[in-house]
Amino acid sequence: MAGLYVHIPFCKKACFYCDFHFDVSFKHKDAIVSGLINEIKLRKEFISSNEAIESIYFGGGTPSVLSIAELEQIFETIHVSFDVATEVEVTFECNPDDLSLDFLKELKSVGVNRLSIGLQSFNDEILTWMNRSHNSQQSVQCVLDAAEVGFDKITIDLIYGIPQLSDTEWRETVLRALQLPVNHLSAYSLTLEENTPYEKLVKQQKYEKPNNDLASDHYSSLIEIINQQGWEHYEVSNFCKPGNYSKHNTSYWQNKKYLGIGPSAHSFNGESRLWNVSNNATYLEKLDSGVATYEQENLSPQDRLNETLLTGLRTKWGVNLNALKTIFGYDINTLYVSTIHCTQHDCTGNP
Ligand code: SF4
Repeated sequence: MAGLYVHIPFCKKACFYCDFHFDVSFKHKDAIVSGLINEIKLRKEFISSNEAIESIYFGGGTPSVLSIAELEQIFETIHVSFDVATEVEVTFECNPDDLSLDFLKELKSVGVNRLSIGLQSFNDEILTWMNRSHNSQQSVQCVLDAAEVGFDKITIDLIYGIPQLSDTEWRETVLRALQLPVNHLSAYSLTLEENTPYEKLVKQQKYEKPNNDLASDHYSSLIEIINQQGWEHYEVSNFCKPGNYSKHNTSYWQNKKYLGIGPSAHSFNGESRLWNVSNNATYLEKLDSGVATYEQENLSPQDRLNETLLTGLRTKWGVNLNALKTIFGYDINTLYVSTIHCTQHDCTGNP
């Protein structure tokens, strides 16, 4: 089983907190679509012919800035290059202002079967404060439209820990979100990332920085409501109606193989992590040479063990210590005995 990630590096507006790779100029959009197609062809051997693609994820940036014709070209290349499983999960990230009824119908007809919609908040002042490209009315309407068109797998993103968002308002936000026809929710704490407009505004004392205590209260409220509503909390930031896990993201947490296409996209082949340059123009220049170029880090068995531990512990399934010993040859109780001892005894770090 393998996954495929396709990065669409364009956004209409720069949300002030975001440090993902994207460009607000669409100057290179046609070239990038051709580049993605090129890169898929160049790297198709990454996935062996006997491995089926079980999940495809269009992320960004904002994939919903693509036209259906562009999306069709990318899909066609994917299907020609790989063995795509019949039950493949195809997630498409989108912003509410892009989702007209017609566009939703076309997305469905080209094979998208899961929508990931960046709602973030139902408060218009907060959406403006974050420089989002949509308002709350568009957020609600697009989810209703998506359900009407027949999407039965819809996930939404929300942001908590926003300084001006009271715990009461956050609780109302979560309840309102869960009343929508969605089966999955990702909730992230507002964070102050380096080199973002938010960091600059905080340095200029024009914006307040995130409040950790408030974020902690919001997170506790979220978990309380999720449990009351009978949803599952299956990963630190991810929640769903029972059993409706994200197949694609779960494969990341379970260390499965995936190929990442597009500027800034990361890949994992089981032993190495590989990543593409985070610059649209440079990405295209490199592809012009006819060879896929990326940076690569080879992971030692202990690196892989550490990653497996860290990602596994983010999920409700945790890690199987016996399986770790069999796969990596390390006994966790011996390897991390001093760390485990210190944590258990709340000491200062000396074994
Ligand atoms: S739409 Fe998404 S990727 Fe684009 S700037 Fe906003 S948060 Fe970042």
